[in-house]
Amino acid sequence: MTALLGLSLLISPAHVAAQAKKPVVVGVSWSNFQEERWKTDEAAIKAQLAKMGATYISADAQSSNEKQLSDIESLVTRGATVLIVLAQDTEAVLPAISKAKADGVPVISYDRLIEDPSAFYISFDNKEVGRLQARMILAAKPKGNYAFIKGSPSDPNAALLYAGQLEVLNAAIKSGAIKNVGNQFTEGWKPETAQTNMEQILTANQNKVDAVVASNDGTAGGAVAALASVGLAGKVPISGQDADKAALNRIAKGLQTGTVWKDSRTLGTEAAKIAVQLAGGAKLSDVAGSGTFNGGPKKVTVSSILLKPVVITKANLGVLITAKWATKAEICNGVS
Ligand code: BGC
Repeated sequence: MTALLGLSLLISPAHVAAQAKKPVVVGVSWSNFQEERWKTDEAAIKAQLAKMGATYISADAQSSNEKQLSDIESLVTRGATVLIVLAQDTEAVLPAISKAKADGVPVISYDRLIEDPSAFYISFDNKEVGRLQARMILAAKPKGNYAFIKGSPSDPNAALLYAGQLEVLNAAIKSGAIKNVGNQFTEGWKPETAQTNMEQILTANQNKVDAVVASNDGTAGGAVAALASVGLAGKVPISGQDADKAALNRIAKGLQTGTVWKDSRTLGTEAAKIAVQLAGGAKLSDVAGSGTFNGGPKKVTVSSILLKPVVITKANLGVLITAKWATKAEICNGVS
């Protein structure tokens, strides 16, 4: 009886009201800020949370799996009532996600899939990004030796992109029109590693590389440097992703064929809105517009929202000026 009384005190209307008013603290665990885009994502998350009266706290794992684990724990200790996680390594991060779940803190896997059904996955359609990358290169070079500069092996996006790329190119590979002459992962998405990988592919093929499918703009930058050192920059079509300013400038100069633009301002804004909903007790399946995704390596089904990516080539760079993503001066810097 005493115990029952205690319980009813615990869930008294006053207590429920206090719970409802509990301030929302969103803890964001970043893997690193290596690519330009992540500061844009961060600014969008912060701005949306400020609008909604929620607090932003964050930690930067600086590319360390171990630091990300302790970062996530300390975000919870610092009072996070919901987490947004950009995973450095989709497997290594799992214990922190289970711990958050046990602590009753909802988690959003941001941009990169975390295969835990308790986490809500929000990203762009990464397989579609891969298809768009391959299509822009196929249009520029329907035949020849293709090199693939893939993303980081610990990021599921790398495999999704490559799957989308091959889906588009498979018929031409089967017919012999296209030869896959090298496909390398880029540990940590590091541009300098991409450069070394591209150099190795060039050497292994006596520089006979006709097209490069690079998985993001950072790795494209590394690959273009390798192509430049053998006089092939601007001659070999190469893709990218992110619409980094440096890449947009390369596109304007004819050194990169195109990029895939994912407006990370929208991704950040949507993630912030979902975080506030989940912190308020909403179920993952309650999130408006959500579906399910099971395209990861372990085929775990998660609740998800996937936004639509956009192809950018020299022909439609103006779209980014209109969208206030980049200025004409930034894009055309040094173009005569
Ligand atoms: C993101 C890309 C980014 C890459 C490196 C991927 O997971 O989707 O936009 O370029 O990570 O940070």
